[in-house]
Amino acid sequence: MNLPNFSAIKPNEIEAQLKALLAANQERIENLLRQGNYSWATLMQPLEECDDRLHQFWSIVSHLHSVMDSEELRTAYNNCLPYLSEYSTAIGHNKKLFEAICSLQNSAEFTHYDEAQRRIIENAIRDFKLAGVHLDEEKKAFYAKIVARLSQVTSEFEQNILDATHAWQKQVSNPEAVSGIPAHALEMAQQTAQQKKLEGYVFTLEAPSYLAVIKYADSRTLRKEIYHAYVTRASDLGPSAGKWDNSHNMREILMLRLRLAKLLGFENYAEHSLATKMAKSPDQVLAFLNELVDASLPRAQQEFKALQQFAKQELDLDAIEAWDVAYVSEKLRERKFSVSQEELRPYFAEPRVCEGLFSIVKKLFNLDIKLVENADLWHKDVKCFAIYDESKAIRSYFYLDLYARPNKRGGAWMDDYCGRRKLQNGEAQIPVAFVTCNFSGPIGDAPALFTHDDVVTLFHEFGHAMQHMLTQVNYLDVAGINGIPWDAVEVASQFFENYVWEKESLYLIAQHYQTEHPLSPDLFAKMQRARNFQSAMQMLRQLEFSLFDFILHMEFNPTEEKQIQQILGRVRKKISVVPMPDFNRFQHSFSHIFAGGYAAGYYSYKWAEVMAADAFDLFLQSGIFNREIAQKYRKHILEPGGTRDFSEMFAAFRGREPNVEALLKHSGIY
Ligand code: ZN
Repeated sequence: MNLPNFSAIKPNEIEAQLKALLAANQERIENLLRQGNYSWATLMQPLEECDDRLHQFWSIVSHLHSVMDSEELRTAYNNCLPYLSEYSTAIGHNKKLFEAICSLQNSAEFTHYDEAQRRIIENAIRDFKLAGVHLDEEKKAFYAKIVARLSQVTSEFEQNILDATHAWQKQVSNPEAVSGIPAHALEMAQQTAQQKKLEGYVFTLEAPSYLAVIKYADSRTLRKEIYHAYVTRASDLGPSAGKWDNSHNMREILMLRLRLAKLLGFENYAEHSLATKMAKSPDQVLAFLNELVDASLPRAQQEFKALQQFAKQELDLDAIEAWDVAYVSEKLRERKFSVSQEELRPYFAEPRVCEGLFSIVKKLFNLDIKLVENADLWHKDVKCFAIYDESKAIRSYFYLDLYARPNKRGGAWMDDYCGRRKLQNGEAQIPVAFVTCNFSGPIGDAPALFTHDDVVTLFHEFGHAMQHMLTQVNYLDVAGINGIPWDAVEVASQFFENYVWEKESLYLIAQHYQTEHPLSPDLFAKMQRARNFQSAMQMLRQLEFSLFDFILHMEFNPTEEKQIQQILGRVRKKISVVPMPDFNRFQHSFSHIFAGGYAAGYYSYKWAEVMAADAFDLFLQSGIFNREIAQKYRKHILEPGGTRDFSEMFAAFRGREPNVEALLKHSGIY
């Protein structure tokens, strides 16, 4: 079992351990270059080992920093960032190493390489160029400075959000003031109050709490208050105005990225971002996004109009404000389809949801998932599982960490501890994945009860994990999620979300936790009808984020002080159909693009969703558990990792290029 040992991590030792590891790697690389006589075995294989050692060490630290943040760990983490960026810059600027790898491309051995090996060499050469290997010494030093600073500022950006999120709470003692909020969320708020030794209810800005208030609280004042706190997190406004303000960080991040891009000969950071993606040019991305805007805008306007009418007639609200949108929408959804997320909760109890997920994996791919007893875990709520293949061999491990808690980064994501590769002893290293969500945990004696949205999120992250875990590639750099272009990464995840919607699969997941009854046909029919409720509005929201991100990285000009807000305003003016107050500072907590990997790449969600919908369409035609098609999907999409162009992988599965029809059809826009 190559499982990590979390409890062995001592924050005060991390820095020294990392320094020793980096020094050992550096020495090894220098030795390799001194020996010369390069081949895969004498150069690439040892490099892979160095990378793997570092990744396995750092992935634990960075994972714990995300899910069990503490002051000591944060300090250690922050102290390590400069060493890491220094190390990766030194590698990227190592001309001798670059030339050594180039020499493999021209060697006789190259013709005997398999697809994965050739791809690794090509990617490495591309990445050396993107790291500025050709720059003169002065520019290299400048590059190094930019990269080091970027990693600090992006980390600060993220930590500001975490601190601002946890700094706010709202205590409510009067039961009337919480009218409308579902029992489940109220119990959670009571539990939070008890933990903090307070009376009544305590609401926080953690997602389950925030969403419960903004969607359900009848009190407009309470909704406005929490909305105001939420959308001003880490900004110059709101309850903690200026305290964790990301305004300066955002500008600095954009400025550093622009400098980096220019240094490497790109016009702007958007162009730089596309150098490693499927999309070929900024124009292609903008045209793609605008095509979806044009297709969705009229429908979204209708949706909002219906919302306004309903608010006026039924709720006596003359004008919908931003803090009313979710609330009125939920009321309209209940009225129109007589189904609410809360009503469905008892059907999505954690144990059954996980069993259902595992049986779907079994039906599709004939894989068994079993709990790993006695695994070392970072928190009592976490579970570790192993995936067994047809021959009863372990194919991978994964950890599920599903509940929100303080000191855990918000949102949901999948990450890895290690990827697959062939070890010296000839055996394959077993991939290990982390699946992290922020759902509300068990309350009292009941199991954790999820919303249908939560289950969609879980399947999304598990879809990512499967691509990482089922890979058959034996070289780390292009195994699993490694080496897949960013704009194709969301295909496997969004594809798998579909299984939370189809009758055949949903019945494996949904069962009332008390009565053990399945979803009634009536409830299922209502859910289906409600599926595309406001889908055009949601589509536009994603397009707004995508366009804002992409245009910002195309046009950013450090001399224009208010440009970020202006670009956001411009995009909203063109495509937004919902009201937006002036105090909204959503961008200050938009960590996907400022601290995550989505810079000039947020469009990837939609880009990939087109392919995911188109792929699933094939299953819809011949049965969602059709083994033959599942086998094809596994072979062409889940197993090859980053060994070949994703467009080829898609075409091999689908028999043609992707088109947007399926997405627009499935979201009810066409
Ligand atoms: Zn994702």
